[in-house]
Amino acid sequence: KSRVSARIGGISESATLAVDAKAKALKAAGRPVIGFGAGEPDFPTPQAIVDAAIAACSDPKNHRYSPAAGLPELREAIATKTRRDSDYTVQASQVLVTNGGKQAVYQAFQTLIDPGDEVLLPAPYWTTYPEAITLPGGVPVVVSADESTGYLVSVEQLEAARTPRTKVLLFNSPSNPTGAIYPPEQVEAIGRWAVEHGIWVVTDEIYEHLVYGDARHVSMPTVVPELADTCVVLNGVAKTYAMTGWRVGWMIGPSDVIKAASNLQSHLSSNVANVSQRAALEAVSGSLDAVAEMRSAFDRRRRKMVELLSAIPGVSCPEPQGAFYAYPSVKSLLGKEIRGLRPQTSVELAALVLEQAEVAVVPGEAFGTPGYFRLSYALGDEDLVTGVTRMAELLAEAK
Ligand code: PLP
Repeated sequence: KSRVSARIGGISESATLAVDAKAKALKAAGRPVIGFGAGEPDFPTPQAIVDAAIAACSDPKNHRYSPAAGLPELREAIATKTRRDSDYTVQASQVLVTNGGKQAVYQAFQTLIDPGDEVLLPAPYWTTYPEAITLPGGVPVVVSADESTGYLVSVEQLEAARTPRTKVLLFNSPSNPTGAIYPPEQVEAIGRWAVEHGIWVVTDEIYEHLVYGDARHVSMPTVVPELADTCVVLNGVAKTYAMTGWRVGWMIGPSDVIKAASNLQSHLSSNVANVSQRAALEAVSGSLDAVAEMRSAFDRRRRKMVELLSAIPGVSCPEPQGAFYAYPSVKSLLGKEIRGLRPQTSVELAALVLEQAEVAVVPGEAFGTPGYFRLSYALGDEDLVTGVTRMAELLAEAK
């Protein structure tokens, strides 16, 4: 019998974190690696938020345990923010504050899934979803989309994958890894289909404010109000306020689900660090000015990246509408010779790019769709140009 349980032994390391760790290790060893791996804004956390945290450190009430479900003020502020940003009315009791959006994803599936329940999972999907679905015994049913539909799945595809065991649809727009955004009418169509068939929707809206051009983010339970009783909304401060390391996220849902998830959290991790919660309170109650500034920098980098990637022979890159990732297809390059090697998969091609061009990208295998690269454009303008150019020069050698 194996020493590690089958359930936990079956989890693989987060591929995105692994790529980032490898790039950082090579950098520490003196190699000029440029990393497109991490999904992390390069901006500092806005000063007012940092100041709120500094003040919180000196306040003795923050040195103690606080309610497991979150500081009452923060739960209230998140409910208010949800009305402000999504026009979705929820009570503070429907909000559970978690250690980052990741814990919200984990707890959502722990709370909704029994062994054998199926979860419709549109691909390309964020690396963490299948693990979070599988842990409570759920079965991810992958519904794949590619660049021909802008990486969006249709109601028809979802309906074809539906079975009597289908319990949940995982929905993520703007998407990590593709940057795709579902247009409002498609969000509504999918929401109506879910209500019609009694399927829960877990909607991950962590990139809600990172939306470019004419694209618009709408929250599914706002456009389909009947969904409110069978919908869990996931969100957090990481991407909007450059607060990845602070670890504050939340889940919003019907009271019974939130109560059950809070019970779980009361045994798992208790309250999120009070100092981080105080910082998050400042973030969600404050203005969105800093976000607007970051968004315009991301937008500039997005357009630059698409321009540079599209110019590489064999690479095709639909324009992402949101988040901070580009997701080009590299299928036409697979099997070609580059510097004496013939990579057959995007994993092998990404390894070659790291070795030969000293550029780190995450291969599409990590997102359930081999044949693609994910590049984050949440890095400095200069590094972005240098890195993509270096990769382009290498890939241009393919024959
Ligand atoms: N959801 C998506 C789609 C993400 O990309 C991420 C982070 O990469 C998260 C949730 C969780 O973010 P965090 O745990 O840092 O709040």
